[in-house]
Amino acid sequence: MLLYCFSGNGPSGIALSYLLAGNWPYYNGAVHPDEMLTTRLASAPPGRSIIQQDLRFLSQGLEGRSNNPVSLLMDTLNHPCADLGLELPSLLEWHHHPECQVDHIVIGKGPPGGSWQAMDGNVLTISLGSWMELPGIEFRAWEAAENAGVISYRDSRASVSSVARYYYDYVHKQSLARFFQSGCVVTSVRPLDTSRSQNTETIDPETGVQYSEPQALWQVEGFDLSDSIPFCYICRKVVLATGSTDVPNRLGIPGELANPTWVLHDLRSLEAAFDRLVDGEEGGREGVPTEPCCDPVLIVGAGLSAADAVIAARFRSLPILHVFRKTAALGTGSTQLPENMYPEYHKVHQMMGDGGASYPCYRALAEHTVLEISSDHKVRVIGPDNTVSVHRVSVVAILIGSRPDLNFLPPGLSLGVKPSEPVDCRSNPIAVDPYTHRVVKAPPGMYALGPLAGDNFVRFLQGGAVAITSHINKELRHYTVL
Ligand SMILES: Cc1cc2nc3c(=O)[nH]c(=O)nc-3n(C[C@H](O)[C@H](O)[C@H](O)COP(=O)(O)OP(=O)(O)OC[C@H]3O[C@@H](n4cnc5c(N)ncnc54)[C@H](O)[C@@H]3O)c2cc1C
Repeated sequence: MLLYCFSGNGPSGIALSYLLAGNWPYYNGAVHPDEMLTTRLASAPPGRSIIQQDLRFLSQGLEGRSNNPVSLLMDTLNHPCADLGLELPSLLEWHHHPECQVDHIVIGKGPPGGSWQAMDGNVLTISLGSWMELPGIEFRAWEAAENAGVISYRDSRASVSSVARYYYDYVHKQSLARFFQSGCVVTSVRPLDTSRSQNTETIDPETGVQYSEPQALWQVEGFDLSDSIPFCYICRKVVLATGSTDVPNRLGIPGELANPTWVLHDLRSLEAAFDRLVDGEEGGREGVPTEPCCDPVLIVGAGLSAADAVIAARFRSLPILHVFRKTAALGTGSTQLPENMYPEYHKVHQMMGDGGASYPCYRALAEHTVLEISSDHKVRVIGPDNTVSVHRVSVVAILIGSRPDLNFLPPGLSLGVKPSEPVDCRSNPIAVDPYTHRVVKAPPGMYALGPLAGDNFVRFLQGGAVAITSHINKELRHYTVL
């Protein structure tokens, strides 16, 4: 019987597949700058993987940019003191144990790499390239091999297209492709045998930690996107690793969905629309134009994706109308990013602040909201003093974030930390047990990791994968699985 089935083939699904394939992390014995952590790591019996240890004990007292303790543990072992700007060697080594392999399948809509395969490849990552890597293949070494031996600077960012290729390559180089079922969509995940899904708790004699017997069965259904052939798996466990980007947030205004060729909600199709605009013009356009040659592109939003859209339009010398609800002074999230590493976002922030004085074809409408988009390319916008203005635009880009699509789950499951609200990766992630990543408000056998569990950066995903692998290993040692 298939033991594990997981929905989502992004970095979370890939990292978990690597661990379930029998690749386990070990502390290499080097001293960590956190003396208490070094003491805890050194107290384990020799030759014992992190997977086999008490994760609660190992991760106690750790603090950082994740709320999940095992995510902090794995991050600080992989990248000690990274947030202090240090690049210290990892304290982990990975050993392969074929006998510990757990049968599993990773299902994803696109090629391995998840949302990275669908993003605009020209954009640079926010994170350093090395923070995008998964265990066992160093990102900078991989990149150097791709680029004829040229090694990038240690504090450089990577292009999204490189990261997407790295994840795809990773699955093949680490012999994980046999576990991946790509180009398939999961449409239904249901607990099958609810009468047997009561957990029997037991205490691990070595750690004193409580674990539960795997009782429930799950039915996972979906179909292949290329030929619509359906599939159905019955499995012991289901892991939700579907990320946060499947449903773009919408303004919910008239005309937003009625004009799909020029009212867009993602950067990738926006770039194509920008190219069409440029191609449609007479002759080439070079440099910063003084006279706009087409109606402005309307960009809605003040986050980094909206900033990317401004950069993409500016690169093509297209006139821009930028509408955002915040005051210009608040600008994009870029203000929290160091200017020397993110000059492009700081430039957009400056443009938002001066309303366009530094770029003749850019106009910012701070504290404005779009009211309506009509099919003749006119948009109605309302300002802070309730003044309504009408603008003719060529393309509308609505880039105001996205949320996960969990419609494949049974109705009525409220999985978020705030059960009365829909799951949102930033404000209401799925409530998981911090040391096993079991979904707290679901029948037994369901786990979540990555942004769904509140870890919005790749650096932290490995923690969830370790917590899940550790939990199943501890269960398997106590119980015979059918
Ligand atoms: C524009 C942008 C820039 C980012 N930049 C950075 C950065 O610089 N550094 C960083 O660390 N993080 C960054 N992130 C966040 C990063 O993308 C995520 O943390 C990471 O990709 C999460 O991995 P995941 O595997 O959990 O989910 P994803 O990468 O989202 O992969 C999940 C996959 O599952 C698929 N899926 C969903 N539902 C189903 C279904 N029903 N059936 C089959 N498949 C399904 C999805 O389509 C998706 O392809 C960025 C995100 C965005 C949107």
